[in-house]
Amino acid sequence: MQQKAILECAECGKRLRTKIWAAITVGKDRQTDDKIFNDEINFFICEKCGNEGFAWYPVKIKNKDGSEKAMVMPTDTDGFDVIELGEKTSFRVFYDFESLKWEIHSWQGGYNFVFDPPPAEQDIKEAFEKNIVSKEDADILRHTDWESFYANIDHTKNELNWTDEQSKVYDLYMKFMYELMISRKVVSFKK
Ligand SMILES: [Zn+2]
Repeated sequence: MQQKAILECAECGKRLRTKIWAAITVGKDRQTDDKIFNDEINFFICEKCGNEGFAWYPVKIKNKDGSEKAMVMPTDTDGFDVIELGEKTSFRVFYDFESLKWEIHSWQGGYNFVFDPPPAEQDIKEAFEKNIVSKEDADILRHTDWESFYANIDHTKNELNWTDEQSKVYDLYMKFMYELMISRKVVSFKK
């Protein structure tokens, strides 16, 4: 059974309207069965950036006589998010709790601060003392070439041309600032 869907390319964000399989009964139609074996079920190519991969959606599979049931969830990490399925907004799928946490965090209003490095030595020290950052992370925060982050922003296209390393350091910075802020809000009651 195919359903109308809106997918979003995980690489470039381009959306496409298409149909995806939500459930398949095997043994009924040879062509459909072949698609499973040829990796053609819910496999798409982005016309904008050429990214190819599966739509992240669990497909229910059952045998013709109903004797066997299975669920398949492709974990191709460069695939396509299902944004809308049928007329309904779909669930966004995450592959680890870490990413989910940050998504929830953004739903709840996101950060109360902006990316504004370099971090102050005082803040790094405080975070280290509160076990928010490890010694290694504290050193990364101290010794990163923050200027290069600004140099790699394409202002005309509004794009960040950061390396994986820079993206990691960015995440570290944001977590560090966030957790530091939370820790300062915690009031301890003394008897
Ligand atoms: Zn794309």
